[in-house]
Amino acid sequence: MTIETKTNEDTLTKESKQFGDPVVIVGGGPAGLATALMLAKRGWTNITVFEKRPSADYYEPDKSFNYLIDGRGQKMTDLLGLTEELSKISVPNTEFYLTRIESDGSKKTSKLPIIDSNRKPSYWLPRKAFLQLLYEEIERNWLDRITVLFKTRCVEIQKTRRYADPEGIVNDTEGEKIQIVASQENGSVMKFEPTFLVGCDGINSIVRQTLKKWDKSASDRFEMKYHPSPSSGLKYKVLTLPPNFPIDRSGKENSVCDRAYKINGAFRDKRSVSLGILPIKNPDEPRGANIIRYPDHEVWELTNGEQVWDFLEKAFPQLPIRQIVSPEEAERFAASEGGCFPPPQYCSGSQFILGGDRSFTAGVLLIGDAIHSFPPDIGQGVNSALEDVYVFNEALSQSNDDLSSALPLYESGRTSDIKALIRLVQTTYPWQYNQDPLRNQLWRIKFLVWLIFSRFLPFLFSPPTFFLIQDSQLSYSEILQKVRRTTQNFYLFGVAISLAVLALVLKTP
Ligand SMILES: Cc1cc2nc3c(=O)[nH]c(=O)nc-3n(C[C@H](O)[C@H](O)[C@H](O)COP(=O)(O)OP(=O)(O)OC[C@H]3O[C@@H](n4cnc5c(N)ncnc54)[C@H](O)[C@@H]3O)c2cc1C
Repeated sequence: MTIETKTNEDTLTKESKQFGDPVVIVGGGPAGLATALMLAKRGWTNITVFEKRPSADYYEPDKSFNYLIDGRGQKMTDLLGLTEELSKISVPNTEFYLTRIESDGSKKTSKLPIIDSNRKPSYWLPRKAFLQLLYEEIERNWLDRITVLFKTRCVEIQKTRRYADPEGIVNDTEGEKIQIVASQENGSVMKFEPTFLVGCDGINSIVRQTLKKWDKSASDRFEMKYHPSPSSGLKYKVLTLPPNFPIDRSGKENSVCDRAYKINGAFRDKRSVSLGILPIKNPDEPRGANIIRYPDHEVWELTNGEQVWDFLEKAFPQLPIRQIVSPEEAERFAASEGGCFPPPQYCSGSQFILGGDRSFTAGVLLIGDAIHSFPPDIGQGVNSALEDVYVFNEALSQSNDDLSSALPLYESGRTSDIKALIRLVQTTYPWQYNQDPLRNQLWRIKFLVWLIFSRFLPFLFSPPTFFLIQDSQLSYSEILQKVRRTTQNFYLFGVAISLAVLALVLKTP
């Protein structure tokens, strides 16, 4: 894409004007806080973030999953100067130890092998710790530029048409502005008129839904396109366990905070259930144990705390359940609705400009889960959201912070990568939740064969997708291309071997 060249004077006037323009970011998740910091660092001075939760580190039991911030996410933490601090509050994947605890109490600890030690470490930390890291940076350095309004929900976004001249003559497009209505928990309602609106409000984005209504083109750019995946539709809840909870019935051996656990239950087949616990740095933090099963599993039918205890005691005879699951937590677990893994989805539109071609009056951008969302199979939710912010930062740099150029530049540079990411999510490892043990085993065999072939014939077979994703220098499109080429080569290799065998058989008298 070519960007119109401006004179220095034009650029400066435009820049200084835009830097002071009001920016509203809806959503103070990872994408929203990172976008606010990135804009402030670039010089934007009037940024307001709406976040409906009460605080950055608000504990939401069913959202208490861990992020693995990899090289892709770290491009953003590097830019914000936060990677060192991130490393101090996280567990590096190079130290990822997993203890499997079977229902008979036997334990086996191993260092997880699928980590590429040639790359810089990725970091495990709870979602709320990552959000707190970003928010503390705002509090420390950017309070003069960024205002975060917690307990504030964006409830409506409208286009208003301003009179273009004092006579009250309305131009068709010139003068269109955005008006946002936000409501606070105390009942007060606020109105904002930002020049730049950023939708970082997650999967059910009100900003995207508004753009869907505004977009008059026939392209359905802001409609999510859904794609199938064997892991979508799985239901999850998180059971909160105390820090250093005991991992045997005698209560003598305790869990260690920086270790992952897979606690396998005693039930088999359809009833089978396990607890998945990821590592954290802080020894005083509670541990979130993920339960992920099909929606028809009996664990979702438990209606009170007593039933939860009873079920867990039968499912996990190796654990002192009543000691590690408090009565309150058992009740909360039963009452919680939990969540469902979404189908992989994305929309091709990620920006909208008001004012038409002649004069830019306002712009809207979508980032993170607001434009792409998927099950957590390959841990790219937060990393792709942070990479979106990074790509937008580059678009701003290339366009001297002129939004009328930067927004289309971001969209044209990002859409094909998002499409590729969705395809990678569908195919990389959707069976890891053991929802179908046979398919899971077949996937493991395929992974092993792929790994061996890639080691011996690297010019024909790229490493398995899991390794490629760890390489943050490769875009999602480049990874998909490599995977497709490898799959093609596997087919050709198979055909060649079959023909060779056939030739041998035919040759044999
Ligand atoms: C069970 C589960 C496990 C996951 N595990 C992983 C994982 O291991 N690794 C990983 O990378 N990703 C994981 N993800 C995905 C990850 O959480 C998201 O991809 C990531 O958080 C996207 O960040 P975001 O800022 O775009 O959106 P979100 O994190 O969804 O943030 C959106 C924010 O906007 C706020 N908001 C929404 N609407 C409004 C409104 N109208 N007004 C004001 N505020 C609003 C919300 O409160 C929220 O704070 C998981 C997701 C789920 C559901």
